[in-house]
Amino acid sequence: MIYLDHAATTPLREEVLREMLPFFTGEASANASASYGAARQAREAIDRARAQIAAAIGALPGEIYFTSGGTEADNWALRGAATVFPEKKHIVVSSIEHHAVLHCAKALEAQGMEIGIIPVGADGIVSPVDAARVIRGDTALVSVMLANNEVGTIQPVAQIAAIAHERGALMHADAVQAVGHIPVDVRALGVDMLSMSAHKFYGPKGVGALFVRHGVHIGRLIAGGAQERGMRAGTENTPAIVGMGCALQLATQHLKEDGMKLSQMRDILMQEILRYILGARVNGSMENRLPGNLHMTLPGANAQMLLMQLDMAGIAASSGSACTSGAPERSHVIRAMGMAGENEADLRMTIGIENTAPQMLQAAREIARLVTG
Ligand code: PLP
Repeated sequence: MIYLDHAATTPLREEVLREMLPFFTGEASANASASYGAARQAREAIDRARAQIAAAIGALPGEIYFTSGGTEADNWALRGAATVFPEKKHIVVSSIEHHAVLHCAKALEAQGMEIGIIPVGADGIVSPVDAARVIRGDTALVSVMLANNEVGTIQPVAQIAAIAHERGALMHADAVQAVGHIPVDVRALGVDMLSMSAHKFYGPKGVGALFVRHGVHIGRLIAGGAQERGMRAGTENTPAIVGMGCALQLATQHLKEDGMKLSQMRDILMQEILRYILGARVNGSMENRLPGNLHMTLPGANAQMLLMQLDMAGIAASSGSACTSGAPERSHVIRAMGMAGENEADLRMTIGIENTAPQMLQAAREIARLVTG
């Protein structure tokens, strides 16, 4: 199989699995909150992972809170911020956020919050000028993603954070697609909160983290025991947390060389598809983009049919479109960018470290054969 869906999830690195294994069985599988020696082993491993994650994003270990993934981190940031300023009833998000943010904002709207939406340009970038028009003096939180999961565009989060702070709002960035792929420094970004998820950088699924800057006191999302300094209850998933720390440390070590390798493969795939398919276009800025992301619109193709045929040809990709009652719908991101025309299909190809240049050539040929007949 040629796997081109790394934005959906990445395979676990072998080294990461090896680090995780001791914490599933035997002594080190003890509950990290217990007081005996074996539990201390688990506690120390969690603390080590917290330090690894903090170091990778320029944070302090005490600013990292483990969660069940990116979705929980996003929900916590939005709902937590809503409790910081009970008098502020306005939350701002961009139109291209992941559903983990958009649907949570919708739920908050149903509970009485007012939601402001920052539009996006045709290049998939949310402009600070547009953000300044939507952020108000009574805005509690601004949430703009660092990198988009469909078109891979990298957003000017630092500039938007400055505007948010000027108006007294907190700033959250969903960095689920960015962390482990591009340099992320929470101080340089000026964010108050930042979401991460391990399975996007060759770590395990079902574990993530929320960075919460020291001095920011958000409400709890999950109540119960005293884990995560009383901020996120539930027995820690020690093997997953260990895996997340190890995976992010490895991803950070190889960030530059992996980024170069990925963007080279991305360019081969893009050039070949553009050469074979007349009228194909690339969506989203090429300058501000994740190295492994290629998102194209192909004329005359049907997204569902194409993905099925690609699957039969041993190629795993995605369209980013939601399918409701059999009718393929263009994604909210492509529609917000104003790029959804008639009789065309979107194809998201996200490249990973185990892909090769020959695979790019083969995938491009296969896609062209299916689209052009
Ligand atoms: N935010 C973004 C931008 C994502 O791409 C994803 C996953 O696809 C999520 C949030 C949700 O993360 P998780 O799958 O860890 O819940």
